[in-house]
Amino acid sequence: MTDSIIDLRSDTVTRPTPAMLDAMFQARVGDDVYEEDPTVRALEQETAARFGLEAGLFCPSGTMTNQIAIKAHTEPLSEVICEQTSHIYLWEVGGIAFHSGASVALLPGERGRLTAAQVEAAIRPVNVHYPTTSLISLENTHNRGGGSCHELAELEAIAEVARRHRIPLHLDGARIFNALVATGQQATEYGRIFDTISVCLSKGLGAPVGSVLLGSQAFIQKTKRIRKVMGGGMRQAGYLAAAGLYALEHNVERLRDDHRRARQLGSILQAQPYVAEVLPVETNLVIFRLRPDMPAEKFLAYLEQEGVRASSFGPQMIRFVTHLDIDDTMLQRVESVLRHLAS
Ligand SMILES: *Cc1c(COP(=O)(O)O)cnc(C)c1O
Repeated sequence: MTDSIIDLRSDTVTRPTPAMLDAMFQARVGDDVYEEDPTVRALEQETAARFGLEAGLFCPSGTMTNQIAIKAHTEPLSEVICEQTSHIYLWEVGGIAFHSGASVALLPGERGRLTAAQVEAAIRPVNVHYPTTSLISLENTHNRGGGSCHELAELEAIAEVARRHRIPLHLDGARIFNALVATGQQATEYGRIFDTISVCLSKGLGAPVGSVLLGSQAFIQKTKRIRKVMGGGMRQAGYLAAAGLYALEHNVERLRDDHRRARQLGSILQAQPYVAEVLPVETNLVIFRLRPDMPAEKFLAYLEQEGVRASSFGPQMIRFVTHLDIDDTMLQRVESVLRHLAS
């Protein structure tokens, strides 16, 4: 029964394919807290190499990689500059305050994207009244911004501001591969621009668990103790890392298919009388606003009854996400469900 459900809530809902499970079964493992797991090491090195960064740290979740990075970059009485709807602020349980004792400077972005001028204006002067600005954190693709991609030129301008003020620059790259595939930008350009990058393997790449934090050798060395205190030191984690390696090898280019299907969903929605607005579809997220006469709860209940799941994303806002487990046949089914509601 559950297999007949078309689950568009998130790209985290994918289940490993038989080929991925086979790669996991074959993994050579050791105790990763003793740094003796060859598959974890291979995943950390492979991910770092792709971005031209020195080292990686395998963690259970993207929340953990982001929060470890923030903890390692900041200190209490300091402040993190980020976009006001960024995942690190909105959806990580207030972890910046809890783990790092740091404040946040929240900037309004254009679909999640900040400009260098905005960032520079938010840097605190040195003054006894103010927290010190200790980190600038960006998100690409931007989740709440509807899977929007940053322009490389703007990222470079922000990096220039960060360097001039000697402030580290972190990227929440939970969906960075979606951005790379959609824009044709190179991973190594991101390694030049950002000091640290968090990459999720359990979103569009389809691994069951895991994220990798990337940075310099010295930075990653420092983060190992923070991961341990958060309870993220895993033992024979190579079985999970093997899924990540498999995902990097096989599931990056196919993100194009998710993007094509998301665009299709976007245009179907655009044509429905009960839809007020669809955010531009750049990658695999489709965020849209319902008209006032179609309450979100009613819309979601109708979809559920038709075997389609979606997420509520704020008042009258809905999010559809395409992923590895959504194919063209399912898309046709969703299309007919959406059209039927209008008739
Ligand atoms: C999903 C996500 C994360 C990490 O989420 P986990 O569920 O903790 O792996 C971080 N940032 C963004 C933008 C995300 O969408």
